[in-house]
Amino acid sequence: RAKVQGKGHCEVFDARMHAFAINQLNLETDLRRALERHELAVYYQPLVNLANGGIEGFEALARWQHPERGLVSPLEFIPVAEDTGLIVSIGRWIMQEACRQLSAWQAQFPGLQAKISVNVSGVQFAQPDLADTVLQVLEDARLEGRYLKLEITESVLMHSSEGANAALGRLQKREVQFLVDDFGTGYSSLSYLHSFPIDVLKIDASFVRRMAVEAKHDEIVQAIVALARSLKMEVIAEGVETLASLARLRELKADFGQGYVFSPPVDAQAATHLLASRPHW
Ligand code: C2E
Ligand code: MG
Ligand code: MG
Ligand code: MG
Repeated sequence: RAKVQGKGHCEVFDARMHAFAINQLNLETDLRRALERHELAVYYQPLVNLANGGIEGFEALARWQHPERGLVSPLEFIPVAEDTGLIVSIGRWIMQEACRQLSAWQAQFPGLQAKISVNVSGVQFAQPDLADTVLQVLEDARLEGRYLKLEITESVLMHSSEGANAALGRLQKREVQFLVDDFGTGYSSLSYLHSFPIDVLKIDASFVRRMAVEAKHDEIVQAIVALARSLKMEVIAEGVETLASLARLRELKADFGQGYVFSPPVDAQAATHLLASRPHW
């Protein structure tokens, strides 16, 4: 009986695997056309300076408006883009668009000091022309390097090559900053922190969201803030959803916050309105 059940189970599993594979394949085909069909967009989520409540910058987040599926989450299509190598062209487009947008805001709001943060995936990070690409994007957008931050996850930094390290060095000379994304979820070894020119640690949302309800998570956040301080790095908390966690982060003197309590990621037009209204959270 167990055998029969096992077999039946297997068939269901195969069917599901099959559906999954077909879905991935369709996504891949559609994603190949997404750029030329102008289905991709960049959304912007403000990073808030916790000391004065002003906008410190924006994180650029990719969105895909699929003609039939509607809005597809980056959690779904970025992995497909990585597996197929499409992330290289998509990632460059997102960086171009985000830098061009910040440059336009600088023209519209004289004296604007806001920065733009762009996520860089492992595949992009491994490209030998990473530094050339970023410098070209900055030049085309007429944006100074000090306004650009690149968000890289711990696991990508851990697996990076000598070449990537050299690229970071070149970009650092142009004052581009580097940020460790989802900090605390990747690796237990912290040795990469002194191998790379890291400027900012971004505490993963999973700790921030639970800090108000679990003392352990509050302590992890405290420890990361202390670590950033002693390494002379800045610290951002992502996933700030409640006023309680916001108040606690201010108490702990975290530098910046990002989350729904301030604003979700919004399109360029809504982000322009945000800048114009000079919010103070
Ligand atoms: P991430 O870089 O850690 O980005 C933060 C994610 O948290 C975003 O999800 C954002 O919408 C979401 N978020 C912001 N505030 C809150 C909050 O208060 N609560 C909760 N629950 N979530 C919040 P999103 O936009 O769906 O992106 C998901 C992930 O996809 C990103 O995580 C990043 O790893 C990846 N991604 C997005 N855009 C790009 C891109 O242009 N390039 C690459 N390589 N990866 C991207
Ligand atoms: Mg990020
Ligand atoms: Mg993150
Ligand atoms: Mg995250």
